[in-house]
Amino acid sequence: MEYLSTRDKNLRKSAAQAITMGLSRDGGLFTPVSFPSLSALEVETLCGMPYRKRAAYIMGKYLEQFRPEELNLFTKNAYGPEKFGHPEVAPLRQMDKRTWCLELWHGPTSAFKDIALQILPQLLSASLRMTGEKKTACVLVATSGDTGKAAMEGFADVEQTKIQVFYPENGVSEIQKLQMVTQEGGNVDVCAVKGNFDDAQDGVKAAFSNETLRDKLAERGYFLSSANSINWGRILPQVVYYISAYCDLLNAKEIKLGQPVNYCVPTGNFGNILACYYAKRMGLPVGKLICASNRNDVLTDFIRTGVYDRNRPFHTTMSPSMDILISSNLERLLFDISGGKDELVREYMEQLALTGRYEIAPGMKKRLQEVFYGGFCSEEETSASIKMLYEYGYLIDPHTAVAAKVLTDYRKETGDKTPAVFVSTASPYKFCDSVLEAIGVTPAASSVERIGQMQSVTGVAAPSRLAALAGKAPRFTAVTERGNMEAKVLEFLG
Ligand SMILES: *Cc1c(COP(=O)(O)O)cnc(C)c1O
Repeated sequence: MEYLSTRDKNLRKSAAQAITMGLSRDGGLFTPVSFPSLSALEVETLCGMPYRKRAAYIMGKYLEQFRPEELNLFTKNAYGPEKFGHPEVAPLRQMDKRTWCLELWHGPTSAFKDIALQILPQLLSASLRMTGEKKTACVLVATSGDTGKAAMEGFADVEQTKIQVFYPENGVSEIQKLQMVTQEGGNVDVCAVKGNFDDAQDGVKAAFSNETLRDKLAERGYFLSSANSINWGRILPQVVYYISAYCDLLNAKEIKLGQPVNYCVPTGNFGNILACYYAKRMGLPVGKLICASNRNDVLTDFIRTGVYDRNRPFHTTMSPSMDILISSNLERLLFDISGGKDELVREYMEQLALTGRYEIAPGMKKRLQEVFYGGFCSEEETSASIKMLYEYGYLIDPHTAVAAKVLTDYRKETGDKTPAVFVSTASPYKFCDSVLEAIGVTPAASSVERIGQMQSVTGVAAPSRLAALAGKAPRFTAVTERGNMEAKVLEFLG
């Protein structure tokens, strides 16, 4: 399988090159030239496999360059019991007759990003070998809270790599911050940025397109790579769990082969929901794709009107991983629903950079609305959603709560009775203060105390690694202006 740039479809790279580079030099995102199909027979075969085998099989369709034994080893390393606290890796939990929650946070950092970031470093290392790259990959990460930690956990002490994480100074939860600044490993660095996530992401993107910086780093034996969901190696492992969930529903005899299932995904950078869209493009019977946003509802408006307009206030919410006004991966969707019109994608992205706004062509809007539904959730509604599910007997985090609420809204509005899965992207223990408040408990003074507090109030066990944060001292305290990020990169790579 070859990969093309969304801004120039004649620019082709191998999977190993696409994963090594992260972002195309022209600013585009690497996207498979076509989608391999998944037959009904294959879905049946996958039903008989454990998660890690399903993952190796599905990823193999996009990574012919990698040997099947190699992929099987990678998924065994990534999804084994030392890493994932649940034998099913991505288990489904039934809510009612036609609703399930897909729990994606049983990995080492308690967010769904582990599923991709436990395997990406292995894919990158193998890609460096395949492409003969001798320089060290410096993985630059802009994070809204979860990616940074999950990426460091995946890359810590991986040979021929270094990783530097930038997070918005006041834009992540206390637990998320503590997880990051206590990260171990000789090849990691963490720095706060004065600004919001979009500022941090802009800074990282600017570093990627700065040729002077690239030359300086090359002299020192480094090149920049990405672990953000602009990297194809992040999206691909996420396609797996949508297919896997479908298999689990089949195995439980909840659906018949071929029957559509709707998925509702709490969305920020549009990576997770894009992976679901790709599963649908492969032939998985996905009905509607429900895109759930918090108060930062730029995607809701886009899906409803065809106009993407980032010129609006930025809200800091209790679901910080979705506090984003520029959803990078939307570019991959635009490329696909335009029928591969790279010149159109380029034009939209130029308009976005210049004016913060673009409007897609009517045909694209029609295709968008056939597949996607967009909804959003206020802060009060997010709290109410946590409370309601808690009273029902299930403790969820604010991101998951947004998805649960938007799914309910969608069903009310459309009357659609299709079985549906909403995606749970983080453990509630990453957001103790918001969750405690939502269930009517005054949070304890320190973030670490709140973990124990929530455990005793709810009786739900906290992930052991979060509980262990209590005894850890911060290693990284740097804060930088957003205009100074490139200097920080040079400092780190000394
Ligand atoms: C990253 C993240 C999201 C958003 O996922 P995208 O792929 O950026 O759309 C949602 N919830 C949580 C908890 C996250 O960490």
